[in-house]
Amino acid sequence: MHWIHSSATMSRNAYLVLLCAAMLALASCDRLQQQLIQRGAEKAAQGDRQDWLSDGALHVVLCGTGSPLPDLERAGPCAAVIAGEHLFLVDVGLGSWENVQLWRLPRQQLSGVFLTHFHSDHIGELGEVVLQSWLAGRREPLPVYGPPGVDQVVSGFQQAYALDTGYRIAHHGPELLPPAGAEMRVNTVELGEDGSALVLDRGGLRIRAIRVDHQPVDPAYAYRFEYAGRTAVVSGDTTRSENLVRHARGVDLLIHDVLAAHVIESLSESLAEHEARHLAKLTADILEYHASPAEAAAVAREAGARMVVFTHLVPPVPPILASRVFLHGIEETDAPQVVLGRDGMHFTLPPGSQEILRQDLD
Ligand SMILES: [Zn+2]
Ligand SMILES: [Zn+2]
Repeated sequence: MHWIHSSATMSRNAYLVLLCAAMLALASCDRLQQQLIQRGAEKAAQGDRQDWLSDGALHVVLCGTGSPLPDLERAGPCAAVIAGEHLFLVDVGLGSWENVQLWRLPRQQLSGVFLTHFHSDHIGELGEVVLQSWLAGRREPLPVYGPPGVDQVVSGFQQAYALDTGYRIAHHGPELLPPAGAEMRVNTVELGEDGSALVLDRGGLRIRAIRVDHQPVDPAYAYRFEYAGRTAVVSGDTTRSENLVRHARGVDLLIHDVLAAHVIESLSESLAEHEARHLAKLTADILEYHASPAEAAAVAREAGARMVVFTHLVPPVPPILASRVFLHGIEETDAPQVVLGRDGMHFTLPPGSQEILRQDLD
């Protein structure tokens, strides 16, 4: 009986202790939750990365360094360029817009999307880019630039998102969400005889399209950004391209696609040995589509680039193996500085200097 009484008392005490602990935990959770909400609201009110818009530097952020092949570490191809008061995106691969949001790039200032070509890994997120930047506060139609055929891509996405756009306007009202902001404005870029075209020249910013080699996708473009005396080129998908060497001359930062040909060759052979002929042929075909790391480094060297950053990494490999696969034999050359790109890499090119500062966003 004594034992039972004592046990019941202990249970009651333990229960009271647990109750108090739970109440304290809830109270501190409440405080923590309140602090997080407060901090989130302060950040939202400040706006996203406003300092990058006004510091006079040219900024490049890798929002996606993957390829069409599934990769948990890398979103589809996308590079964000911030110059002056504007944010631009070069290609919008799957998962890239999520990165733009996570790293709080200034979405309201999105002033143009530049499509290098229309393979699905480069255009997959166009609908979300338009919709979400409009919800973030962009109020004018979004200019979308690309090779001939860009009108077809744009009108398809526009049509697919038309119902959702209507719901949002009905729900929030056209004053908060002006219908014009949900639209895209097509800019078809035709190249001149020198294999390039000036696409935009405004407020000290010049953007040029450059023909590259991605047969049978033709034409396919790279884009060159010049701002405050600093330059960056995003290659899009290309094999080694002489035209790119010509038009990337003297560039500070070259972002170039790469494919580890030796790995893809053995993969294709191995697939054939296992009778997976369909996959073996598809794998062998992509060899003709992209530059090898050595070729991309050679393009950078011949163009006189200050730094080359590898992106669109094919095939996807675990991070621990990436350097071994993509930088093998590269570091010893006299190429410009070679960097293996990662999602979230941020490059700052300050005006009046030759510096390229690098940091990882988280
Ligand atoms: Zn691609
Ligand atoms: Zn492609």
